[in-house]
Amino acid sequence: MIEWRTEPVRLCLYPFLSAASEYVEESGITLDNLIHSGTFRHARSRGKERIIEAIKDGKIRKQVIISNAQAETELLSYPFARILVSCIGDVRLVRRYALSEAKAAYEKLLENSSTGSSSSTDVIYGMSEEFGVRVDFLPGEREQVRMPFVDYLRFTVNLRDKRWKLVNRGLEKGEVKLRKSEFVRIIQEAVYERIKRDLPLDVPADICKAIRGYTEDIKKVLEEMRKKFGDAGFGFDFESGSGFLVKDPSCFPPCITYILSNLREGVNVPHSARFAVTAFLLNAGLTEDEIIEIYKNSPDFDADRTRYQVEHIAGDKSGVRYTAPSCATMRTYGNCVRNDELCERVSHPLSYYKLKLKRKKEQEDKSKDEKM
Ligand code: SF4
Repeated sequence: MIEWRTEPVRLCLYPFLSAASEYVEESGITLDNLIHSGTFRHARSRGKERIIEAIKDGKIRKQVIISNAQAETELLSYPFARILVSCIGDVRLVRRYALSEAKAAYEKLLENSSTGSSSSTDVIYGMSEEFGVRVDFLPGEREQVRMPFVDYLRFTVNLRDKRWKLVNRGLEKGEVKLRKSEFVRIIQEAVYERIKRDLPLDVPADICKAIRGYTEDIKKVLEEMRKKFGDAGFGFDFESGSGFLVKDPSCFPPCITYILSNLREGVNVPHSARFAVTAFLLNAGLTEDEIIEIYKNSPDFDADRTRYQVEHIAGDKSGVRYTAPSCATMRTYGNCVRNDELCERVSHPLSYYKLKLKRKKEQEDKSKDEKM
């Protein structure tokens, strides 16, 4: 079994582990040290960087660590990042940050668990112990594991893809068989829930004040991303390059904005909403690659499967492109969030979009005329 506590170089890759908090506690470094001491300025900068990477890339880059000193800096940057996120107090940022950390852990875990060595099985056992899941490798196997279906259900509740449904898995004597990589994917869910559950922390006002320089820098990046891509879509590019935004997210109907915002924050959305948003964006002129990019934030993102589904809706093989669902269908599936005056005037989300684009254009033309 892995002895996390004695290995800071490994611990810093999984800073959400209880052994990581214990390591920091036992190191004797106080909150006051972390916030004020010059010794920890690199840890503070790295903490800020973690959040900026989450905002810009949706993922925390793992550093190349070659010494214990570096590992400790990386380890300490995690609690500092949590303090920063808490002082900013933006719920969407909390979700995006938690998901970014969980995705980084997933990739590292996949890498660490696929070496075929005994330490790769130890990593799996270490994580199962951490999250209270009983897992066993199948006899004579290093690639397949089994876990009690109760634990399986607990951690897959937010995974919408059909392959995670219990009926689609072999259930034998109360246990579910999984590939090792699928178990690691389940651990990503557990990590995401753990990080998100505790945030935002209740940070005293004087601490938030002391680190205002860092939080202001992060808020600027947040603001830039929102200005650039709109509130519904920061994290992916809608700009047409034609001067006027043809694919203009600020004109999207409330239902589509809501779904996009959930996707961006890593919230699992139902299939009917995924279908609606994909068909809408294809009809609004986004490319298949741009749409696949949007799904990258999704907790159960699978590049091949997403491409297949987007291509299917685009009608690449059948030659028939699906139309986005009407408002009536959106209401039937609970995807309508009708909340403004334009919604009362349209029967289709695409009509909403066209009408709003038209109004925006008219408004812009009027402003230009007034300036002349
Ligand atoms: S009324 Fe139509 S456009 Fe408006 S939120 Fe509902 S589905 Fe979307």
